Amino acid sequence: MADRTFLDWPFFDDRHRAFAADIEAWAEANGDVLNLHGDHDLDGDCRRILKALADGGWLNNAVPDADGRLDVRTLCLTRETLGRRSGLADFVFAMQGLGSGPISLFGTDDQKARWLPGVAAGETIAAFALSEPEAGSDVAALSASARREGDGWVLDGVKTFISNGGLADRYVVFARTGEGEGARGLSAFVVDADTPGFEVVERIPLMAAHPLATIRFTACRIDGDRILGAAGEGFRIAMATLDVFRSTVAAAALGFSRRAFDEAASRTVARHLFGAPMSDLQLVQAALADMALKIDASALLIYRAAWLKDQGAPRVTREAAMAKLYATDEAQQVIDAAVQLFGGLGVVSGHPVERLYREIRALRIYEGASEVQKIVIARQVLAGMGGGG
Ligand SMILES: Cc1cc2nc3c(=O)[nH]c(=O)nc-3n(C[C@H](O)[C@H](O)[C@H](O)COP(=O)(O)OP(=O)(O)OC[C@H]3O[C@@H](n4cnc5c(N)ncnc54)[C@H](O)[C@@H]3O)c2cc1C
Repeated sequence: MADRTFLDWPFFDDRHRAFAADIEAWAEANGDVLNLHGDHDLDGDCRRILKALADGGWLNNAVPDADGRLDVRTLCLTRETLGRRSGLADFVFAMQGLGSGPISLFGTDDQKARWLPGVAAGETIAAFALSEPEAGSDVAALSASARREGDGWVLDGVKTFISNGGLADRYVVFARTGEGEGARGLSAFVVDADTPGFEVVERIPLMAAHPLATIRFTACRIDGDRILGAAGEGFRIAMATLDVFRSTVAAAALGFSRRAFDEAASRTVARHLFGAPMSDLQLVQAALADMALKIDASALLIYRAAWLKDQGAPRVTREAAMAKLYATDEAQQVIDAAVQLFGGLGVVSGHPVERLYREIRALRIYEGASEVQKIVIARQVLAGMGGGG
């Protein structure tokens, strides 16, 4: 059983503690679905997980509540709990949130009422389409375009590395509308997968299974009421959405770390080396201590960022970037240490720590690579001193 003492921290309300207990109990009871890893039927497994998450009511937390609030601590607790058991289940939950995040945060009441209930019910699969072949880290360089035509818009261009690509029913798509140079000329649109002119170009296989695709828009016409916010606000919408969801990527990494630690700690107690449990060896204890420290420090950064956002902070750019950078980079180290403590068993295909070793890698790249997070943090820190750019 993973460490639960962090739930006593003042970042949480009692409703979060009750929530953490509820989702933990659900996860315990739904081991069969959380054991699906997409190894043989990726899309089918994603749909099975989505249904289970919807039936459990957990997807309701991926969209705002009746008061219009998206509780970041609840999102993080959900991802941490799912991530501890299944990278794919964490992914399915996360994409319902990220894929509909711009609608949750910037949609009109009508847009929210039209598109969010299907996401919460697991009836609509959501995706967030920002990256392009020539615009990944450099979002402002994106070239997919949207031009006005009559009372609607016409989209052209290619997006790549789009999670849920090929599976999603609806995409939030960022395109250049030209109100200004670079980041000032982008807008966000909601596009259904059955719109003429939309196509999935290719599915991209990954080292840890997860639906991903390149998609293309060719003279793809959508109605005027499918723009989110005002024309020219796309970059702000994308960044504000990532501000919320970056902490949750960190929480998924934390879940992976906790699982790796639990697996490794149990192993060192059970495994005997040189006539005694491995856990008696001081170098093994040092490894476990390092892992535990990285886990607690990650949790502190994550729940600080989440708490701050839930208190109504308009942006938590610095805190979310720190949480994402630290928790994902350190999870890589924690998982690597777990593999090492398992010896040969740690690299056997399908072993939990081997699976985590593959699962963690992408988290240091998507939603802003680690280097990008460092730049974000440095800019925030320097701006606080009246410098930087
Ligand atoms: C599994 C997965 C899922 C994804 N899901 C989505 C999705 O759902 N929607 C979406 O829009 N995109 C998605 N992406 C795309 C992801 O956001 C991009 O891969 C990421 O932004 C990096 O862009 P890039 O791959 O083009 O790498 P590049 O931009 O070419 O960067 C390559 C590397 O350069 C380094 N780097 C970047 N900037 C700097 C800098 N300023 N200084 C120094 N080094 C730097 C980093 O190490 C980076 O990894 C996903 C990617 C992956 C791998």
